[in-house]
Amino acid sequence: MIARAAFALLVLCAAPAAAEEKPVVPGIWLIEGGFEPGRQPDGNSVLIEGPDGLLLVDTGRHASHTAKIEAAIAARGKPLVRIVNTHWHLDHVSGNLTLKAKHPNVRVSASDAIDGALTGFLKRSADSARPALEAGKIPEPMASEVRGDLATFARGNELRPDNVVRGNATIDAGGRKVELHLTRNAATAGDVWLYDPQSRVLVAGDLVTDPVPFLDTACPDGWLKALDAIAATPFATLVPGHGGLMSQASFIEWKQAFAAFLDCARGTQKPSYCTAAWYDSQTAHSTPPADKLRILTMADYYVGRIRSGELDKNCAA
Ligand SMILES: [Zn+2]
Repeated sequence: MIARAAFALLVLCAAPAAAEEKPVVPGIWLIEGGFEPGRQPDGNSVLIEGPDGLLLVDTGRHASHTAKIEAAIAARGKPLVRIVNTHWHLDHVSGNLTLKAKHPNVRVSASDAIDGALTGFLKRSADSARPALEAGKIPEPMASEVRGDLATFARGNELRPDNVVRGNATIDAGGRKVELHLTRNAATAGDVWLYDPQSRVLVAGDLVTDPVPFLDTACPDGWLKALDAIAATPFATLVPGHGGLMSQASFIEWKQAFAAFLDCARGTQKPSYCTAAWYDSQTAHSTPPADKLRILTMADYYVGRIRSGELDKNCAA
């Protein structure tokens, strides 16, 4: 019995690890992000294969996510030629540091919004996190997460793009043409989303997210306009910044729920009414919400941010 168990273990160890990347369509893979309780999130990453090389959209936050990306790149056997960062949030750009070191010829395309973030939002976050860490006010495992983000912020200049996206553009992804679209003042001061006409796959970054829209650095009205531009694109499959793949129909549902959430938050209804309506809209499609209280708590936080009007300051040009 013991011998048989040992043999089974050996067989398990010898089997190749299952690929962590999931095919979206032939030639495009999703490396799923995560958002476990007590940890900071990783955004989704997308790998797009051209005839001569690979394009990666977003690089995650944690080393474990970067390792999955590296495995997906290695499995394709082609060079990584380009990284596109949809926006500067650390759950989408932190892996740039490791990937640029391993792939010295790769070039990063992104908006220039990270420049304002390095002296603004990210600096303020770091300035408040350091004394809280030193005073022992942040419990583990979050303290380790914050230390990781501070180490990334210390190398913030290296996160800046090699090629600044200043408007809509067609770029080369290893011999495959893909479209980049720039939106000012939406989820951040500069969000880039990608459309691959060949496959009709659209990579939305955090303009579309489950289980809640992450509004921390958002201009709500600019975000709505960005969703209009996405809705006008003939995509078949949308990859959100967080969560599972969406069809046109499920995206339209999400967009309507987002608009309704903003309306509700700006109105006079109790916050709990707005958060419950949001939660119900999310259970209608997409990945099943794992933790209702957590979603309601996050949505409630954003109702407060929207209702205070402070997010509208992010709409200034
Ligand atoms: Zn994100």
